[in-house]
Amino acid sequence: MLTGALLKASTGLAYLAYKTTETTHADYDPVLKGHYDTDPEISLYEGEQLTSRFSKLRESLEPLGVDVTDSEHWVSEMLPMFGFNGLKVNLRRDVSVVASEFKDPVNYNAVYGYTYCRGEVTLNERMFNPESAWNGKVENLQVLAHELAHEVQGTMCQDIRYTERLEESAQIASWEVLASMANEGSRPALHALVVSLEKNAYRASLYRAMRDRQLPYFLKRFRKIVGEENFSAWERMRRANMSDVGGLHDILRRYSYDPLKTIIESRKTGWEVIGLSLPIVEHAGGRVIVGRIAFKLDDLKYFLEHAEGLTEALN
Ligand SMILES: [Zn+2]
Repeated sequence: MLTGALLKASTGLAYLAYKTTETTHADYDPVLKGHYDTDPEISLYEGEQLTSRFSKLRESLEPLGVDVTDSEHWVSEMLPMFGFNGLKVNLRRDVSVVASEFKDPVNYNAVYGYTYCRGEVTLNERMFNPESAWNGKVENLQVLAHELAHEVQGTMCQDIRYTERLEESAQIASWEVLASMANEGSRPALHALVVSLEKNAYRASLYRAMRDRQLPYFLKRFRKIVGEENFSAWERMRRANMSDVGGLHDILRRYSYDPLKTIIESRKTGWEVIGLSLPIVEHAGGRVIVGRIAFKLDDLKYFLEHAEGLTEALN
């Protein structure tokens, strides 16, 4: 590991040293399009490759706004996609979307949406406010997909046995569904997926950098990778949470690091993940048993394999 003094002396030199040692035992993965080693943890170098790839894809896209306040159409388009991917629990009932003005300033700044998994999704009113920085952002579509994934989780949401992987699973399911839509030719879904993967790769790398005490290197390097606009927004989120580093760490791990780690690892098991908090319902002797589904990431795998071509085609 590099020392803080060395990092301060020359970040560029430190980066070269870091990169060289990391690549020696990492193989090129044709789906992820980068070098990934056999260690299940996401190294800072692996996180950097992932972030770089999606930053480049996002830069190549013509900016696109999405209005999620037209939620009825998005819900009817996205909800069956969960069923198509094997997640059929609770899909018989409608899901409504409401806006809520978060009075608490911390929530106003940090919470995109929430649900109690009983058929009603609440989104932060800032997405609906034409004067807000959050209005019309394409990534709001991923937020809606994430909340719909919680609806699909149903009773798992309130069950302590499934809590640890609840957010990780909602992220992975939302990406699989957006990938389904992007592979079918949906421009908004493609944009939302690219931006969400970039943001979460950045945040997973931030988590790793904080854990490894590589923050100065991370900030300097990733500012160049993600560009000034994204860096400004995402770095603000880190600074705003500095009074609770433990809480920040936990959020970065649950929403960004763990889901990406699981996806990268799934290439070793045919892109199928066992143990996520995503339900399958079995009927046995008149009883309904809810268990964890073996979740196949086939659309996400296809998307990752063809993202550059798809991005060019759907731009
Ligand atoms: Zn959530």
